[in-house]
Amino acid sequence: MSRGASPNRGCDRVPNEALAEALFALSEAEPPGDRRLALLRAGYAAFDTAGGARPAALADAPDWLRPLIEQLAACRGADAVAAAVGRLAGGRPLRPRATRSGFLARSAIAEILRRGPSELHPRRLRGACHWHTHDSDGKAALAAMARACAEKGHAWSLVSDHSRGLEVASGLDREGLRLQRGRIARWNRERGDEHRVFQGLEVEVLADGTLDVPHGERLEVSCVLAAVHSHFDPDRDQTDRLLRAVATPGVHVLAHPRGRHFHHRQGLRARWEKVFAACADHGVAVEINGFPRRQDLDADLARVAVAAGCDLMLGSAGCDLMLGSDAHAVPHLEFDAYAAAIAMAAEVPRQRVLNVRHADEFEAWLNDR
Ligand SMILES: [Zn+2]
Ligand SMILES: [Zn+2]
Repeated sequence: MSRGASPNRGCDRVPNEALAEALFALSEAEPPGDRRLALLRAGYAAFDTAGGARPAALADAPDWLRPLIEQLAACRGADAVAAAVGRLAGGRPLRPRATRSGFLARSAIAEILRRGPSELHPRRLRGACHWHTHDSDGKAALAAMARACAEKGHAWSLVSDHSRGLEVASGLDREGLRLQRGRIARWNRERGDEHRVFQGLEVEVLADGTLDVPHGERLEVSCVLAAVHSHFDPDRDQTDRLLRAVATPGVHVLAHPRGRHFHHRQGLRARWEKVFAACADHGVAVEINGFPRRQDLDADLARVAVAAGCDLMLGSAGCDLMLGSDAHAVPHLEFDAYAAAIAMAAEVPRQRVLNVRHADEFEAWLNDR
């Protein structure tokens, strides 16, 4: 992510999110085909740029789409662009999709990082958490990912490949984990002073809240991240499922708690105060997953997690938070910037964030669970 970039400089009058949303909404008013796809692409270009939305959306737009982008970008503010979309879509009011609400455009992330406070700036994070290797569905070897984390200036990192329960991601079985542990031990012998790698495992929370990896096997890895990747049934309140998962002995982190996915899935419905209070009770950290299409937690829920279980009378301390990139390739390691920006926007106190701790402190935290 380019850190100095400021959105909407110069002639851009419409916030990037608003221009992207307009293009997404117009794409939905089209029947499936090339026009719909072009609008969708332009929307993503506007959403994913750290600079101005207009030039990004125009960059690969076909000729027929360019005047429309210019027209939308010339609107004065988000309300005007929404009204323009309503007119263009035949007078129907623009209904923002719930699956897109609460996501920050890359330009907004850049702006938050620019404003600070700087104590959670990605450059100041000691630990790089939640990344994958080609031991499950990542695109790079462990050593390449660890090297990239070290080069970014991190003192330690937490590899978190999938357990075998997630069939689509061809996860690690016990033997695979053992082999990976050997690679980690070799790395730590050779370069551990400069950059220490911890072994995590992203295990599946099954429909009933049990985990797909038995207790004895979980004990063999340093950090267990419990995560939901299936059974998102929007009609079901999933509080009990999550409560059971975070109460399971040996769970360290509740990863991407909602399981939402930009444009596709709103994520789990649960009584989050209750889930986070249980996390605080059991000493389970809650992740802010910075993968741009996840952003899970968002800033609103991160605030709830920080306040959860905070009972001044009893002196309980609320949840710890882990900032994760969920990187599946070296360039994705930059996504910890999204997580950091969300934490900044939620005003998460620095001492609640595991990534700012020294490797020894993080290890002590792991051993304490
Ligand atoms: Zn996951
Ligand atoms: Zn993951």
